[in-house]
Amino acid sequence: MSEAGLEQKYIQEAFDTNWVVPLGPNVNGFEKDLENFVGEGKRVVALNSGTAAVHLSLLACGVGPGDEVLTQTFTFCASAHPITYLGATPVFVDSEDSSWNIDINLLEHAIEDRIRLTGRTPKAIVPVTLYGMPYDIDALMEVADRYGIPVVEDAAEGLGSRWKGRAMGTFGRYGVLSFNGNKMITTSGGGAIVCPDDESWERIMWYATQARESYPYYQHEAIGYNYRMSNICAGIGRGQMSVLQEHLDHHRHVQELYREAFAGADGIEVHKAPDPRYNSNYWLCTILLDEKLHVKGQEHAYEETVKGAVGGAGGVVHNTSRLHTDCEPNANVEGLRIWLKERGIEARPLWKPMHKQPVYKQAPAYTNGISENLFRRGMCLPSGPCVTDDDVHYIIESIKEALIC
Ligand SMILES: *Cc1c(COP(=O)(O)O)cnc(C)c1O
Repeated sequence: MSEAGLEQKYIQEAFDTNWVVPLGPNVNGFEKDLENFVGEGKRVVALNSGTAAVHLSLLACGVGPGDEVLTQTFTFCASAHPITYLGATPVFVDSEDSSWNIDINLLEHAIEDRIRLTGRTPKAIVPVTLYGMPYDIDALMEVADRYGIPVVEDAAEGLGSRWKGRAMGTFGRYGVLSFNGNKMITTSGGGAIVCPDDESWERIMWYATQARESYPYYQHEAIGYNYRMSNICAGIGRGQMSVLQEHLDHHRHVQELYREAFAGADGIEVHKAPDPRYNSNYWLCTILLDEKLHVKGQEHAYEETVKGAVGGAGGVVHNTSRLHTDCEPNANVEGLRIWLKERGIEARPLWKPMHKQPVYKQAPAYTNGISENLFRRGMCLPSGPCVTDDDVHYIIESIKEALIC
């Protein structure tokens, strides 16, 4: 049966059996599939987004008003926003050059400094498997354990990525996965929490289903959330699990094509795993442009404001009349983005570091310049399941064309 066929079968089953609700056989089946995939005897709760998964994981770690939570500054906003949902303050930590993920020495310095300044130990650490790249999580867990701080692994971009053979998302107290439309697999929208045991699984499940007490009527003794995944979405997820390995193979193949194509190119560097312990799913293939590299038309970069959002976000995006911010991709990166867009290719900037986001300008940050430098020089290239070898060759040729002066 084709991929869509299997998904439609599970969705049809949901209608036929009258399980068009946020629980049911597809949700249970999808959770079992995920448990088998990540291994390590973990339990999984499926939720309606990865953001909800970060939120409930932090809640279950006891994060509340007035607390501080350490997270990677070089990430998508959903690693940080749930910290503020809980009334806590994010403390941003910069990245290391090799994996682009949280710098563990800087993390330890930040922990020491927060304890010295506030007299309290941060409540949690949220490291991120950025673009699918693992990091030395043994070293990170050693620091976290030494200070007794629970770790919530944001592996939203890292389904199928492994550190020394073990799935990312299974090392910390909780692991976060996402099945948003653009992630390694999709349920249209969805997420999951990888839990260490039955007890924490039950606690997360309880919070995700409005925290009800067992009475014949609705009795509430804590604040809960409506975060459970729908049985329809989970049907898509079950179908997608059957093609996860194909997707992983595809992303690694596309990465390899880009890597070969740019191996001899001056001024273009394809981000790659530092050594074989880091097994990336290569969710997105990312490149860095030397700032001295000249791209055709770069003198016209930033002449027009962008309408809507890069990334084609649905919903409402505030339009701006300003052309610049104090931290933005170099002109050659923006020039290349526009060059590719004119050829029907959607390339995107890297995530803008959280400590440079106006909304977080008050938040403490421990920086070393690396994430800002990567943001200025970096770009994500198309790599999704619909991107063919021919597409990749067209993208590579288009980039090379932009560089010939
Ligand atoms: C996508 C993503 C999330 C959240 O996922 P949603 O399912 O979109 O809510 C969290 N963290 C990171 C790093 C992500 O890329």
